[in-house]
Amino acid sequence: MYIVLLGPPGAGKGTQAVKLAEKLKLVQVASGDLFRKALQEQTALGKKAKLYMDKGQLVPDEITIQMVMDRLSLPDVAEGAIFDGFPRNIEQAKALDKALKQQNKAIDKVIYIEVSEEEVLTRLSGRWICRKCQSPYHEVDAPPKKAGMCDRCGGELFQRDDDKPETIKNRLKVYLKETAPLIDYYKKAGKLVEIVSEGGMENVNRKIISALH
Ligand code: AMP
Repeated sequence: MYIVLLGPPGAGKGTQAVKLAEKLKLVQVASGDLFRKALQEQTALGKKAKLYMDKGQLVPDEITIQMVMDRLSLPDVAEGAIFDGFPRNIEQAKALDKALKQQNKAIDKVIYIEVSEEEVLTRLSGRWICRKCQSPYHEVDAPPKKAGMCDRCGGELFQRDDDKPETIKNRLKVYLKETAPLIDYYKKAGKLVEIVSEGGMENVNRKIISALH
């Protein structure tokens, strides 16, 4: 099963992807995490990506698509995956469709998580992420049991450089221009399921699971 999680930054895609991956025994493929890992490892790809990430811009397609395709060639995603943060524009969506089709596979469902701009700003400015396993937390909505430490793996929590108010605004602008057209793209393909993000993340997760069944 191949699932895409779509929605603005701060919609809770990362949180939901982690939960879905656990419940459905699927691997999460998060392009942002792949870039941050490359950056941590100081690779050429990571250094190049940082130039765009710091400004809240999209990393160019040729770099992003190649990175995700490399990830897709690994055996752990042969039976399915949960895409989080990819595709981010029509070009990437077409590249993903094409790559899966070559293996007689296709995206099964696209979950579009809807959330207001105001809510996005509140969520992102209180977000903390595990340096080791990338699990997301929120200082008000979903705090860790012990401050600064990941409940799942004990890793150190940090705030992303691109979660600053100015960069958040730019990321939202980029989302509306580049990524929001994917809503129509997947609607036309008959794959889109819309979920309103309200009532807490457990509630959203239940709605997603029932939409997938
Ligand atoms: P995210 O963790 O998904 O919010 O991504 C953080 C940043 O990584 C984005 O603001 C982009 O600069 C970059 N990025 C992540 N995924 C993509 C993608 N699919 N296409 C282009 N840039 C991406």
